[in-house]
Amino acid sequence: MPGPDLVVAGAGMGGLVAAARARELGADVLVLEKGDRPGGSMRLSGGFVWRYRDWERFRAECPDGDPELQRIVFERLDAALAWLEELGAPVLARETGNPLTSGLRLDPAGLTEALVGRIGEIRLGEALRELPHDVPVVLATGGFHADEELVLRHITPHAGELVVRGNPWSTGDGLRLCLDRGARLTGGMDEFWGRNMPAPPARIEPGDFRSLGQSYAKHARVVNADGALYESVTWSEIDVAQWTARQPRARAWYHVPDSALGEWVRDRAVGEMVEAARAAGAPVERRDGETVVEVVSGITTTLGGLGTDTCARAADGVYAVGADAGGISAGGWASTLASALVFGRIAAESALEN
Ligand SMILES: Cc1cc2nc3c(=O)[nH]c(=O)nc-3n(C[C@H](O)[C@H](O)[C@H](O)COP(=O)(O)OP(=O)(O)OC[C@H]3O[C@@H](n4cnc5c(N)ncnc54)[C@H](O)[C@@H]3O)c2cc1C
Repeated sequence: MPGPDLVVAGAGMGGLVAAARARELGADVLVLEKGDRPGGSMRLSGGFVWRYRDWERFRAECPDGDPELQRIVFERLDAALAWLEELGAPVLARETGNPLTSGLRLDPAGLTEALVGRIGEIRLGEALRELPHDVPVVLATGGFHADEELVLRHITPHAGELVVRGNPWSTGDGLRLCLDRGARLTGGMDEFWGRNMPAPPARIEPGDFRSLGQSYAKHARVVNADGALYESVTWSEIDVAQWTARQPRARAWYHVPDSALGEWVRDRAVGEMVEAARAAGAPVERRDGETVVEVVSGITTTLGGLGTDTCARAADGVYAVGADAGGISAGGWASTLASALVFGRIAAESALEN
């Protein structure tokens, strides 16, 4: 029997898109998924697939990213989203709620179902363990947020304290395999996107990753265990999650004045997020007329990864997409669902052309 035309490792956003596009182009695709379900971290996400409205703003927000790769995401996202809609991805909203960005909010369960429906068989519980030699491969294994050793090496000495706020299977497999094939790493290996989360003994299930996010640093006084202050400067609060990860025990305390409890961050009030932390079992106290919430840094997606060219190629016959590919969001935060979508399509097209 002839082998497949393409192997795809990982059935999250990047892998499902690459496999669906390859099937659309008539290819025989073998999709391996390490976990027990398709969808990866995308399935747990808010489903906001977006880009900055202005190119200059994208560059200013993510100054350390590769401008050539960023430009491709910027220019091709809208058409890629239209393609997803044609495939049947359910749209929950046609705007992101953030004036800086444009895009769609998709239903992650429906998106997974629509893409899986186009692909057919996905081999669940089967990880790619070595690179094939005779067939191109798309690495879409989701970066290394769930690998304590790699997080320790690249991001923080407090890796063991972090909450893994993404799928549990993304342990850097794509990176390790492709480095053995001579690929390079991008800058930004020490960067990640995440959220500060209620500190232990809080109970945090994957279904609570979004609702338990404590994203109101701009309305609080943020201190570490030694009382050192931190002022968050980004709209996404990516900086405060990264700062917290590097503090003793990856902890911070949000001192929230009563006047801030009624403030809104997108669709949630600060008081609502504080109550969610308390209900989950985190230490939440009244001190000197303020509410004090203990948080721990939660890591969702690593932003550094394999260096790729404009065809998503990382090494001979090897393509990397999504969080396996680095150097797009570096220096800030841009939608990783968007880059996984745009480069997932490109990887399938490039791999089948060559
Ligand atoms: C709570 C939450 C909210 C989020 N909200 C947003 C948002 O609104 N907008 C946004 O842009 N991003 C958001 N994200 C981030 C986004 O979901 C991820 O960055 C994105 O899914 C990355 O896509 P990916 O294809 O690289 O990885 P994933 O979607 O995580 O998929 C990787 C897959 O690879 C599999 N895998 C790992 N190793 C192997 C192997 N060796 N062989 C085979 N399979 C393997 C994993 O099991 C996993 O299924 C959110 C994430 C979370 C958790």
